[in-house]
Amino acid sequence: MLTRNDIIEKAFELGFEDAGSTTAEPFDAQLEYLRNHQEEYGWTEKVGLGLMAGTDPKTVMPAAKSIIVLMEGYFREAFPSTLEAHFGRCYLDDDRVTKDGLAVRIKAFRSFLRENGIDSKVPFNLPHRAAALRAGMGSLGKNALLYSGRAALMSSWVIPLTVVVDREFAPDSPAGGLGCPEWCRNVCVAACPTRALKGNGAIDPRKCISFMTYFGKEITPRELREPMGLYVYGCDRCQNVCPRNLSWLSRERPMNARVEAKAKDFDPRALLHMDGARFKSRVWPHMFYLSPNNLWKWKMNVARAMGNSLDDFYVPDLIRAYDENDDGRLRGMIAWALGRIGGGKAKGALERLLAGSNGVVREEIEAALGSV
Ligand code: SF4
Ligand code: SF4
Repeated sequence: MLTRNDIIEKAFELGFEDAGSTTAEPFDAQLEYLRNHQEEYGWTEKVGLGLMAGTDPKTVMPAAKSIIVLMEGYFREAFPSTLEAHFGRCYLDDDRVTKDGLAVRIKAFRSFLRENGIDSKVPFNLPHRAAALRAGMGSLGKNALLYSGRAALMSSWVIPLTVVVDREFAPDSPAGGLGCPEWCRNVCVAACPTRALKGNGAIDPRKCISFMTYFGKEITPRELREPMGLYVYGCDRCQNVCPRNLSWLSRERPMNARVEAKAKDFDPRALLHMDGARFKSRVWPHMFYLSPNNLWKWKMNVARAMGNSLDDFYVPDLIRAYDENDDGRLRGMIAWALGRIGGGKAKGALERLLAGSNGVVREEIEAALGSV
């Protein structure tokens, strides 16, 4: 009969940073939190994330007896700094579509369980952080992230994964809530440019840059464009500034060759000019939250980041993208970006574009001209 120790050993053998177990009891506090914060989380049900159902592991597996939590470290290798400037690190080597990295190891773990007579499910909608806390594997930060208690130098560069099983294993003792030192003056909260963090470990996901880069059907509101900075997809700002992450951040690490190899596909200029076929083959397999129908949004995020770079190197690309795309939201953002970069070339382009524009795009061009 497989023991808890056998399982933990297997997890380490497969390259997970840590492992633990907890009961398959429902996560009542999480359900209550979601119910009480529908304004902030109601969208998750609309897009089918099923977070409320996920608070009861028995909806995933009626015979559920325990949850095994596997802790994956996702920033063990270095990424090109140009990519880190524009993308959240957890998305840079994401194999949820390509299934050639982490997915292979999860599959091997489940095969090991199956060979030992244990059925398992790996649901996407269980409260992973709450499960890890209940399994005593870390604590929360005021940036709403899980900090590992043992792995990755106790940093937040970890992703807890839950495996629901039909076998009972002795649960670990739950860990406490917030683990931030008192001397840290809420650096993450102050550093969050869009004020998404509430200061008590909670977040309004709708205000988080990560959310805003993939959800929403409108042009990004003007007051958020500058705070969103250079990020195109995801955001790591509240992790980068956190003193609990300093040790892990300062570590020497080898370059991630897979990510380095695809860096040219994620260059802002390549993204701004990509067509649907290129998006589907080179970008979507790695960052898939936006469908091919939302190419305008990818490009709008890129145009906003180019504007915030203040680099007139991007002016010709922005002008070309304006001429080659007719989506008003993208064109409006390009006008904003040209206005933000400023200078003679950008101003001349805006004056030319004004002549053939109308509606919201015209308003954006006029506002941009007012700022150069
Ligand atoms: S990821 Fe960025 S936007 Fe989201 S809470 Fe952290 S700092 Fe704020
Ligand atoms: S920056 Fe400070 S308050 Fe925020 S998570 Fe890190 S230690 Fe906690």
